[in-house]
Amino acid sequence: MKNEKGSLVRPDALPSSASRPVVTPLSPSVVYASDTPDMLDQQYEGGLHGYTYSREGHPNADVVAKRLDRLENAPYPGVMTASGMGAVSAALLGLTQAGDHVIGGNQLYGRSLRMMAEDLPRLGIATSLVDPGDIDAMRAALRPETRMILVEVVSNPTLRVADISGLVALARERGVLLVVDNTFTTPRAFKAFDAGADVVLHSVTKLLAGHSDVMLGYVAARDAVLNDRLRVFTVTTGMTASPFDCWLAERGMLSFDLRFERSQSTAARLAAHLDGLAGVRRVIYPGRTDHPDHQRATDLLGANFCNMVSFELDGTRAAANAFTRAAEGLSFAPTLGDVGTTISHPASSSHRALSADQRAALGMSEGFFRISVGLEEPEALCAVFTQAIAAAITC
Ligand SMILES: *Cc1c(COP(=O)(O)O)cnc(C)c1O
Repeated sequence: MKNEKGSLVRPDALPSSASRPVVTPLSPSVVYASDTPDMLDQQYEGGLHGYTYSREGHPNADVVAKRLDRLENAPYPGVMTASGMGAVSAALLGLTQAGDHVIGGNQLYGRSLRMMAEDLPRLGIATSLVDPGDIDAMRAALRPETRMILVEVVSNPTLRVADISGLVALARERGVLLVVDNTFTTPRAFKAFDAGADVVLHSVTKLLAGHSDVMLGYVAARDAVLNDRLRVFTVTTGMTASPFDCWLAERGMLSFDLRFERSQSTAARLAAHLDGLAGVRRVIYPGRTDHPDHQRATDLLGANFCNMVSFELDGTRAAANAFTRAAEGLSFAPTLGDVGTTISHPASSSHRALSADQRAALGMSEGFFRISVGLEEPEALCAVFTQAIAAAITC
């Protein structure tokens, strides 16, 4: 089969170089060739490190996972998944079995709520939804078969703060796994393993990757056996992340610290600015002393109140329409953590399935907006809100 031009259908070897690339190479190879069956044996047995088939693992996933492991102080190598929901699925489905009971925070991410309401029960896993700020209610919801509690540190879009220390104590006392979705807070504001979480997960799609061009998730467990189960579940169900997405996420994460600092300081500035505007009924930001969970936020997050601000316009759907139309340069789009500021309107998107009364009970009127603050120049951003809110209240 030797051909003087090299192999006919396989690529040639990379040219040798005395210097190294400063950027991680992208490795799209689905398979990795080993020299002999003996070597392959050793790779599978763990005696030799080597990749085999990329659903089982590849260098770009390992590079990003290692970075996240370091940020989260994860005791074992975490697993990259094809989206944040892949990470939620790995925790909810990979660590439970029929007959178990799972408790979720009552304001979880919409798709997580859907999995709690529909998929787990279909598989014989009972679920309850409870306010993660109310430890008595959590305690009352526990059953002998409760396996897991899944919470987010800061809720969406009302930005309430979970009683994490109370939950850690309760979970330990009752031998229940505490799973923390750390997407909103990021390891920059909150180290969930240090705080006592058993499993930590992320939608890396959001602040960590940061540019709205990658779907990616991460999940890791404190316990070696559970951590291995998360990996096996992800590989078996095909939730493996693509090399290109991992590569893009790694690039995005190089600026994560700077982006986080900038967007949270602008968020504090914007929250103060909104508070002074006519037509704004209330402003919700955990860094404000009028926030109902301000003290708890300070205890958990220090001075890191993150980049999410919610506010309520004094007006109906017509005012909401006028506001997004006039908010020039800002995307009205249901995501968060992008380099650009994005605005979401829960009544028409994430919370549209609720009745107006149910939304009202959560304090979510037609004028309620959630802002994910990006990297715009802070005063220019405030000016856009000033004129868009003015347009909304005169419509
Ligand atoms: C977006 C999000 C998810 C789901 O992540 P995807 O990457 O969109 O699948 C889960 N939890 C939270 C808190 C999120 O914001």
